[in-house]
Amino acid sequence: MQSTMNDLPLSIAQILRYGSTVHADAEVITWTDSGPRHRTYGEVGRRAAQLAHALRDLGVTGDQRVATFMWNNAEHLETYLTVPAMGAVLHTLNIRLFPEQIVYVANHAEDRVIIVDPTLIPLLAPVLPEIKTVEHVVVTGDSTAGLEVPDGVGLHTYEGLLAGRPETFEWPDVDERSGAAMCYTSGTTGDPKGVVYSHRSIYLHSMQLCSSSGPNLRQGDLALAIVPQFHAMSWGLPYAAFMIGASLLMPDRFLQPEPIATMITALRPNFGAAVPTIWQGLNQYLAARPTDISSLREVLVGGAAVPPALMQSFENDHGVTILHAWGMTETSPLGSVARPPAAAEGDERWRYRYTQGRFPVQVEARLVDDAGTILPNDGAAVGEVEVRGPWVTSSYYGVDAADKFSDDWLRTGDVGSITPDGYLVLSDRTKDVIKSGGEWISSVDLENAVMGHPDVLEAAVIAIPDEKWDERPLVAVVLRDGSTATMADLRDFLSDKFAKWQLPENWTLIPEVPKTSVGKFDKKRLRAEFREGAFDVTHL
Ligand code: ADP
Repeated sequence: MQSTMNDLPLSIAQILRYGSTVHADAEVITWTDSGPRHRTYGEVGRRAAQLAHALRDLGVTGDQRVATFMWNNAEHLETYLTVPAMGAVLHTLNIRLFPEQIVYVANHAEDRVIIVDPTLIPLLAPVLPEIKTVEHVVVTGDSTAGLEVPDGVGLHTYEGLLAGRPETFEWPDVDERSGAAMCYTSGTTGDPKGVVYSHRSIYLHSMQLCSSSGPNLRQGDLALAIVPQFHAMSWGLPYAAFMIGASLLMPDRFLQPEPIATMITALRPNFGAAVPTIWQGLNQYLAARPTDISSLREVLVGGAAVPPALMQSFENDHGVTILHAWGMTETSPLGSVARPPAAAEGDERWRYRYTQGRFPVQVEARLVDDAGTILPNDGAAVGEVEVRGPWVTSSYYGVDAADKFSDDWLRTGDVGSITPDGYLVLSDRTKDVIKSGGEWISSVDLENAVMGHPDVLEAAVIAIPDEKWDERPLVAVVLRDGSTATMADLRDFLSDKFAKWQLPENWTLIPEVPKTSVGKFDKKRLRAEFREGAFDVTHL
């Protein structure tokens, strides 16, 4: 039987129209060096129409790519909505990639227009001549000072392009399965790979951000979106906020703990999202300069495992709940979210919250061993996590990466178990796990435990070669200023938490754990530094 329901496409234009009228009074607030800059969603809607007219005049048609090289701010939100709504494809360039990677992804995506923030001109200008497909560069604000473009490339200011244009636009009908936006992985191994989100996938994913079993973004919230708009679409917050009528607080380039603390006290956001290192830095700052951040009801934290010590400290010292979540650029990125079952109490509740969480109904997950056998979700069997669902990619743009998929399942490269009631417990990435004497040691478990020591600021664990055991863990530790803890003290601290053979004997003190372009521990770099003999390793 055919259903009697309307078969209407899900689209970004719908989100744009709805948010800018029904939630016209909600705001995007951009932090600047002179405080907040406010813009209502009604204004965003009118300016989106102006931007669409301008981009059409620059020749943007069909599914051409419009790239952004920007911080999180009001103009980036406008671009997020406008480009897909006019049927073109938004490409968020990661400003922290190496220059040759920026060139690679921009050429690979065939970016026609690049919209750049004036403060990022020094990063874009040197690579611009290498980007062969670019026809126009647009600088946000009202000056192009400091930027020279190659011959034949148009140079415009964003405000100049918008000025005087009509404030409405005939948003075209688009196939909900067509590309709306694309994002490249940060390329920790090999060239970055592109993922293309559809109108449908973004729409459905946005609904999940507003679900009470998910992040639970709500109408009237003020969401501090620290996770960059170039990192997995700011985890979908811009679209979800526009859909549900939550306001956005965008930190622009002010990502250090001090301005973050200042904007929280000034504007009192009640929701936030960022990778663990951001909250770790803020926590350290607050320890020295107590500041009230309790306006935050919940902060969504993922992209890397959240140390339990950080979750405890946020809850106990600041009254802020960290909501642990797992995801990837390839999964839009929201996968699992660690909301405990309603009946769980006390320590049991905490144990659930430390996990990577439960998948929503739309995202299926399974565990697979090296031989390709599907393992049970019994909380004990450990295998590689594979996922599929309407907002999970089933290929990469323009490259053959068949080894990353198993039919329509995405092989995540993450290793863990799943409990019978559906909670994912990750132990590692396949490439980070330590294979010692035929057994596996979880680098993440060791890191979390070391970071539970009050004198430890950061700790990263990598595998190093060992004649007898093949691999053994090396713990690279950053101690707090003034700490007198020795490495033997730290090892003792772990002794009741791990089996004896798992206890690391190799330790090194470092000034800071290197971070990737999206702020995660860069273990690839640590491994290289170890190979180059950069560490003074203590053997206990
Ligand atoms: P990249 O792969 O370039 O770092 P992503 O942000 O897409 O960029 O990274 C996805 C990966 O991040 C996951 O495959 C997983 O290894 C890791 N990750 C994300 N969330 C968590 C989490 N909550 N716990 C542990 N690892 C996580």
